Amino acid sequence: MKSNWRHSGFFYLLLLAVAVALVFAFLPHGSKPQEVAITEFITYIKQGEIDHVSQNGNTLLGLYGEEKKYSADYYGSTNDLVDFLSANGISVGEGGVSLDVEAGNRDWGMVALQVVLPIMLLGLLFYFFFRSARGAGTQAFNFGKSRARLSSDNKPSITFADVAGTDEAKEEVQEVVEFLKSPQKFHALGGRIPRGVLLVGPPGTGKTLLAKAIAGEANVPFYSISGSEFVEMFVGVGAARVRDLFEQAKRNTPCLIFVDEIDAVGRHRGAGLGGGHDEREQTLNQILAEMDGFDTNTNVIVMAATNRPDILDPALLRPGRFDRHIVIDLPDIKGRKAILEVHAKGKPLAKEVNLEIIAKETPGFSGADLANLINEAAILAARRNRKDITLKELEDATDRVIAGPERKSRVISSKEKEIIAYHESGHALTARMLPNADPVHKVTIVARGMAGGWTRFLPTEDHYLWTKSQFNDRLAVSLGGHAAEEIAFGEVTTGAQNDLEQTTKLARKMVTEYGMSKKLGPRTFGQKQELVFLGREISEQRDYSEKVAQEIDEEVHNIIQRAYNTAKKILTENKAKLKQLAKELITHETLEEPELNKIFEGLTPQAD
Ligand code: ADP
Ligand code: MG
Ligand code: ZN
Repeated sequence: MKSNWRHSGFFYLLLLAVAVALVFAFLPHGSKPQEVAITEFITYIKQGEIDHVSQNGNTLLGLYGEEKKYSADYYGSTNDLVDFLSANGISVGEGGVSLDVEAGNRDWGMVALQVVLPIMLLGLLFYFFFRSARGAGTQAFNFGKSRARLSSDNKPSITFADVAGTDEAKEEVQEVVEFLKSPQKFHALGGRIPRGVLLVGPPGTGKTLLAKAIAGEANVPFYSISGSEFVEMFVGVGAARVRDLFEQAKRNTPCLIFVDEIDAVGRHRGAGLGGGHDEREQTLNQILAEMDGFDTNTNVIVMAATNRPDILDPALLRPGRFDRHIVIDLPDIKGRKAILEVHAKGKPLAKEVNLEIIAKETPGFSGADLANLINEAAILAARRNRKDITLKELEDATDRVIAGPERKSRVISSKEKEIIAYHESGHALTARMLPNADPVHKVTIVARGMAGGWTRFLPTEDHYLWTKSQFNDRLAVSLGGHAAEEIAFGEVTTGAQNDLEQTTKLARKMVTEYGMSKKLGPRTFGQKQELVFLGREISEQRDYSEKVAQEIDEEVHNIIQRAYNTAKKILTENKAKLKQLAKELITHETLEEPELNKIFEGLTPQAD
């Protein structure tokens, strides 16, 4: 934002300079009078070349008609001038030279050009400056006004029926809906209604959707504004907007105000990266002040959404403000199915399609991902000239959403294809042979996104708890690709990089976070600050000694080594199957569960 400011500020200064230069360049300077000595000036009057004299300070200007002909220095008062001219034999007034001595008698055209025009230009420039500064080119000088959008026809048409799989959240906000529907009822009973409700959850889980649906259910106006919009370039604009937004809302009660991405303004004051941001602070203060200013009869509910509740300023969360928190998490199988159904409504699904299968295959998908999936499937079906969407399109769309579009065009040499086939077969076969690994659902060597090939597993259920054996098997499966390359070709490629990264991360977590190392015991090591919902670590604070650090490294190493040995053992013992699988993959490129089961026939999972 800041650099942007400077950028455009500089630009406008430049523009201004150019404009001023232009003004002066085009000033009329053609009629500049000729400077002469006062004696000459007198002579010209006598010769009749001057018929009008005007005094302007210490200068006499001699004109003939409109034309300014001569100018001369003259030091003396106005009264003296008449005497001075008479003394030189020049009659003033009728028949002689006319005289005017008002200092104000200027050339008004000049004055206009010199004074008014630059001011006008400056004004114009400022006008354009603010216009573009505002971003929205249509609202010049309106930048204190909130950009709260009064949802199209005022009241959203979205209802709870459009929000699937978040039954608990819906139940929790039911009270808010009831209140907005008939606030009088609540007032009569003296009930206290939560003023501020904070929706917390990962991106795409339907927070915005739910807020809209609440307004829709209650049939009240919906004012929405996004925290990121408040981060403006002029200090004070954000606060002004908040004021305006609340003004507007208070005139249309009962209603719902929704502040999306509140973390953009509501982060810890004075903390935050990049130091305090005055603008944010003022905006946040204004929100708090407005919320405090509500009296019990103000029928406005303020909702906000964030995926970073950890960084919010505590002042926002105090009683009377956003004291009610509703968590919207990623949907589980049931939720996913429900969301898929909502989005499949009105789309021509083939009769045999069971959305439960897709729901099962999409752990970790958010509502937005699922909406996207259905959309992609519809597009695929259209592209394939189908009349309906079959399971095939849905499956392909799932792959697409997970791994990006297929890249059939990527040219890979047959050698590379072989290596990728062995690599993926390694994953699949290891998974098949380990009892605690998720079943293999699909193996492919068709490149997708950044991945050369990939193996997809189909968990029998969503996991919330993981056992150590499950982790160990997962590590082995991850390393299966690497191991297979080594077994088949005697050396490894860069293709396993991502697998190795994942393995190392997981093994480290087992030791330092889940207490799964016997040697180091049930404790955690290091205090981490994580972006809670994004699963990204910001920093780690060490709370253990150098010696322990070494032990951790050793344990991580051991865990990984053990997993690797497991994978290698399985693949060596079943080398014939590995070969067969890789061959099939090279011919068919993609193998699905039935084909895989056929190849795997006779193999029974074994405990490691
Ligand atoms: P968030 O605000 O949590 O980031 P959104 O409300 O913007 O998520 O969701 C984006 C889109 O994803 C919605 O417009 C909707 O199409 C879809 N979606 C998300 N969650 C759900 C849900 N629970 N039910 C139906 N659709 C959903
Ligand atoms: Mg949103
Ligand atoms: Zn791999």
